[in-house]
Amino acid sequence: MSIRRQTDVRLFLVRTCHTCGKVFSTTAASPFMRQIKNVGGKKQKTCYFCSQTCKMASYKHMFDGKAAERKAEYDRNRDRRESARRYYAANAERERERAKARYWADPEAARAANAYQRKKRKLVTG
Ligand SMILES: [Zn+2]
Repeated sequence: MSIRRQTDVRLFLVRTCHTCGKVFSTTAASPFMRQIKNVGGKKQKTCYFCSQTCKMASYKHMFDGKAAERKAEYDRNRDRRESARRYYAANAERERERAKARYWADPEAARAANAYQRKKRKLVTG
């Protein structure tokens, strides 16, 4: 949620309703907007609604019984291990060079960071 500055004059903006597609005018003070996650990505976009009813309708998908399916999909997308493995396989040499450079830039901090990562990995993998 953003903080809306208190001003006397607000610009009127022409928006399209995300639910019904109606074009309507609104100001930045309108409560009928929310951020909706883009499909397949992490970015969110601000969506505008012409009325309370249309905004409520935009939440309907949460109750369609496919929540578990979507959660699984979300977790699959969150798991970066496979893509990280692929990246490292392709860029192993460059990553080793970078690690060396990082170490010699500040050996003490690099050792501490490595110890921390090792500890974390141990906790995650068990
Ligand atoms: Zn609408």
